[in-house]
Amino acid sequence: MSIRVYNTMSRSVEEFVPLKTGFVGMYTCGPTVYNYAHIGNLRTFLFEDLLKRMLMYNGYKVKHVMNITDVGHLTGDGDEGEDKVEKMAHKMHKTSWEIADFYTKAFFKDYDSLNIIRPTVVCKATDHIKEMIALIQRLEEKGHTYISGGNVYFDISSISDYGKLARLKLDSLQDAHRDDIFLDGNKKNPKDFVLWFTNSKFGNQEMMWDSPWGRGFPGWHIECSAMSMKYLGESFDFHCGGIDAIPVHHTNEIAQSEAATGHKWVNYWMHGEFLLDDSGKMSKSNGEFLTMSVLVGKGYDPMDYRYFCLGGHYRSQLKFSWEALDAARKARLGIVSKVGELLAKGARRSALASDEAKRLKAEFTEHINNDLSSPRALADLFAVFKSGLGDDEKYSLVLDFDQVLGLELDKVTAKREEGVQELDPELKMLLQERADAKKAKDWAAADRIRAALKAKGFVVKDTPQGPVLEKN
Ligand code: AMP
Ligand code: ZN
Repeated sequence: MSIRVYNTMSRSVEEFVPLKTGFVGMYTCGPTVYNYAHIGNLRTFLFEDLLKRMLMYNGYKVKHVMNITDVGHLTGDGDEGEDKVEKMAHKMHKTSWEIADFYTKAFFKDYDSLNIIRPTVVCKATDHIKEMIALIQRLEEKGHTYISGGNVYFDISSISDYGKLARLKLDSLQDAHRDDIFLDGNKKNPKDFVLWFTNSKFGNQEMMWDSPWGRGFPGWHIECSAMSMKYLGESFDFHCGGIDAIPVHHTNEIAQSEAATGHKWVNYWMHGEFLLDDSGKMSKSNGEFLTMSVLVGKGYDPMDYRYFCLGGHYRSQLKFSWEALDAARKARLGIVSKVGELLAKGARRSALASDEAKRLKAEFTEHINNDLSSPRALADLFAVFKSGLGDDEKYSLVLDFDQVLGLELDKVTAKREEGVQELDPELKMLLQERADAKKAKDWAAADRIRAALKAKGFVVKDTPQGPVLEKN
């Protein structure tokens, strides 16, 4: 079945044609590791996971490369401000390496908890300085750079199509000298961008390397160009990120990559819309933001958030509220409970043999292949339970769809259903009393309650999602 995706470059839905039959090369801009990822960032990583799962569902072998930005991302988009990782290191009295390492680990903890498939290659910017220097040298040889105030800049007037992804107007670029965002006086044009910083203003920067232009560190954009080309070649299929990457980061990545190679770099550009909170776009620099651990601390399962995100199309803004998350949780638990019922009736994985099962699968595929229509794909999942299929086919179809949805429905067991979903009020009360006793460090009371539960035929198991009762 054909796959159609919205390409930001053409501003239209296009049929996907891979560069190499059966194979997809995909690069997604990774996190800047100076703080925890907020749930808005994670929405973008969930959208990229959905894209990857859809491609795999269609039989493609996907090579997914994601970077970790641990140096070079400044607080300002116009090359002004401080390196975000260094800034946090100073604030926390840690080294930049420690900060980057800590938040990279925290990032992957969230990533895994959301059942996002790990990239084929994860590459840290600080491990690829050699490749970045080589790429800058290539640009220098072709006359696309200049040195000013100690930094190496990309000269946007050296190419004819700067800004094509964001459809920046040339007039405004020419006029830009009068632009009040012209914060770096070393630039010939405010849209020129730094490839390598050696400017004395960064004299105290901890992460620095020797280079042909002096000791310094790379600009943020060159990282993604150098690493994606190292692992995926000089042309590949997909490049993704959040929509905020379009006007500067991705625009500059394209400019330097295509200037260096002399040909088209990426075939499909896909961007996820923002998650909004009450104040607008959820953002790390706002100070207050929601993380997965806040959600889990309030008793939500990461799969509730995954379900919540699937409920909106990736190209639409999504407004976060606790009520909406509650509704997602309720709907998801309804599905879990239905899967548990099927298992309790002895359902097993089987081939999808009936015409009805094939029709339902075709509809699901049609929706997910149509620019990742996840809300319709969720409706298709509900349709399975309402269908007249036998239990085995229902169960098998649910697991088939879940290869794309990633809601961990393969982990549902009939046993868990009996133990937790249908908990009677007395057992619930005992579990709560045990939790309170543990909180108060009253271990004797906690043990007494455990014994009382055992006498009723249940064993308490403490899981990351909280205590769970299993039949003895
Ligand atoms: P960062 O770690 O800041 O480099 O951001 C990681 C990813 O999250 C990038 O692709 C951003 O475009 C994306 N992003 C940032 N804020 C939001 C938001 N509120 N909603 C969705 N994606 C976002
Ligand atoms: Zn990038």
